[in-house]
Amino acid sequence: MEPRYPLLSLSRHRMEIDGEGVTTLIGGAGCPLSCAYCINKTELCQAPTLVTAAELYEKTRIDDLYFRATNGGLTFGGGESLLHIEFYEALRPLCSDWRLTAETCLNVPPEAVTRAAAVFDAFIIDVKTLDPAIYRAYTGREFGPVLENLKTLRARLPSDRLHVRVPLIPDYNDPADQDKTEATVRALGLTRIERFSYVIRDQK
Ligand code: SF4
Repeated sequence: MEPRYPLLSLSRHRMEIDGEGVTTLIGGAGCPLSCAYCINKTELCQAPTLVTAAELYEKTRIDDLYFRATNGGLTFGGGESLLHIEFYEALRPLCSDWRLTAETCLNVPPEAVTRAAAVFDAFIIDVKTLDPAIYRAYTGREFGPVLENLKTLRARLPSDRLHVRVPLIPDYNDPADQDKTEATVRALGLTRIERFSYVIRDQK
């Protein structure tokens, strides 16, 4: 059966926010984690439109010239983008000139990451923390294959294609934990590391 993507949102003309060049940010449904400060929970509960690769291409190709002129393209955000590998494999041949970027937490089966590395040009990775206990407390899920998956991407893509986000998570970790996570990521040869603090919105 033809793979379909659970489309929640589509945001055009984003400059250098979600990857290189002019980008259209695609929001999709579904995530294996349950982060305490997730801002997508409401959206993830909504019934999304299911689109085929050809349908998404039609919805986004209006910006083809911008994408090609700026080395931009599509960035797939969350939920968790890597839940939809078969869809991207169908999409890739339709837009071989566009940069495809995945935003991911990497807490997905290793096979999905191996396949994603062959489809996407770049990744924006929110590792949360590499401390298993803090990770479990914040996300509600075991740390699982996150580090293994990060190593897999590092082995397959140039380091400048991997942007790793290392957050300060109020009430869950601290700058010392950020230091440890950053050191582990740097030890893999990754240098595009962004430290920042989660902004907590009213969850009610
Ligand atoms: S990984 Fe992102 S989408 Fe998933 S629960 Fe955490 S914040 Fe929400």
